[in-house]
Amino acid sequence: MLNTNSDTLRRVVQADLNLQPRSSACWTAQLLSAFQGLRGCELYVRSVLTGHAITMQEFTADLKHRMRGVWRDAELVDPNTHNNKLATYYSWFAIPFSRNERMPINVPRYLHLDLSKHVMRNISRFRLRAHTLKVEAAAWLEDGSCVCDQCPGEDEHVQNEVHALLICQDHRVCELRKHFSFLFTPFFEDFSAAQPFLLQQVNNQLVHDFLSQQNNRLFFLSKLMDLFVAGRDQAAADQPNNLAEGYPPL
Ligand SMILES: [Zn+2]
Repeated sequence: MLNTNSDTLRRVVQADLNLQPRSSACWTAQLLSAFQGLRGCELYVRSVLTGHAITMQEFTADLKHRMRGVWRDAELVDPNTHNNKLATYYSWFAIPFSRNERMPINVPRYLHLDLSKHVMRNISRFRLRAHTLKVEAAAWLEDGSCVCDQCPGEDEHVQNEVHALLICQDHRVCELRKHFSFLFTPFFEDFSAAQPFLLQQVNNQLVHDFLSQQNNRLFFLSKLMDLFVAGRDQAAADQPNNLAEGYPPL
């Protein structure tokens, strides 16, 4: 704006610059404050104070790097041992960032498909831990338990996303996995019609690979969600899972 051909605007900007050391409420002070945490913070501050141009390509890449910082922190946390939404999303669901910070960010594949609102909502809830599986519900209840209440037997398992996907031995969940066994068998050697569940945890990368497979039928996740929210969120579970009209049902 210092290069503007408007003398009035140039003088207003210069006046704001002069005000900056004395007022944190002025536009320049707020702009300088917003630079905090950027790798080129000192350079940007100096550029603003001296009226020099900032290279926008470098600046936007720097902004992206700062925004991704939250995911670099999440990368260090294991969702199997910490009840942490960011770590859960990062480890099991997130689309990896491009190494080139100037590349646009890709959105998850299901958002490009013609799915019913119910399926879209269920998948989003599952991916974002905005559901009522015990691991999440327990955080909102006093003395809430994370232990799965659908597994038969005495063993206690945390009812999280991986448990629902691969480990829970509830007979309806097992039947659903058998129906969609072609999604599981390429990834899990132990999975079979006789034993449509895993007996032990699998590593996070394998879970991520399974959930990233390019198969439209992966949207059985919506049916899985219905099985787990039935009784807790019955109105949502009762809605149909069919794809939009003109497409085959899941
Ligand atoms: Zn279970």
